[in-house]
Amino acid sequence: MYLKKLRLSGFKSFADPVSLEFSEGISAIVGPNGSGKSNITDAIKWVLGEQSIKSLRGKKMEDVIFSGTEKKQASGYAEVVLILDNKEGSLENYPQEIAISRKLFRSGESDYAINKKSCKLKEIHSIFMDTGLGKNGYSLISQGSIENILSSSPTELRNIFEEAVGIVSYKTKKNEAEKKLEQTQGHLDRLRDIMAEIE
Ligand code: ATP
Repeated sequence: MYLKKLRLSGFKSFADPVSLEFSEGISAIVGPNGSGKSNITDAIKWVLGEQSIKSLRGKKMEDVIFSGTEKKQASGYAEVVLILDNKEGSLENYPQEIAISRKLFRSGESDYAINKKSCKLKEIHSIFMDTGLGKNGYSLISQGSIENILSSSPTELRNIFEEAVGIVSYKTKKNEAEKKLEQTQGHLDRLRDIMAEIE
């Protein structure tokens, strides 16, 4: 699986629709200071579900929408589409091409979609769990992050390794199952109380 294409529209400095194509292997984005290189990595994080505006270098979520210049009107919405090549089938049960998209309007209305079908953020998270590509994945290492990784606590480091070896999805499923067990135990306790009252 690899990142094949990224389409941006109204996202930060990218007022007009832009499509970036990547090939397998390493890609480098070069350009003068302030030309929008980091905005591209912000777009990848954002479409994968980043909720922290601080890590997107803004103050409020609306800051990801093109804010206009003297010559160009501000955009009404921001949209990012990330297209993954899944020809090798590393993401089982998904087609050969997967398009993940996120759209945000100034009104605050927002939407996530997988292959143009509206979905919940949870579904996007579950696709990328254990792939290293999720919003907290280790595939995206921005300026300053290497230092952060090196100074991570043992627990934080363990999370990175767990994602790399692919056990996060099992841990999540285990937590969900434990929650369900707890709920069921609660129901059973209630039932026992009621039965004791009847008897
Ligand atoms: P450097 O090499 O200095 O790190 P860079 O190429 O990574 O720079 P970015 O930080 O990606 O550049 O882009 C910064 C530019 O994006 C600034 O000119 C900023 O005004 C512009 N920008 C950020 N958010 C918006 C927005 N919402 N609307 C319009 N322009 C924006």
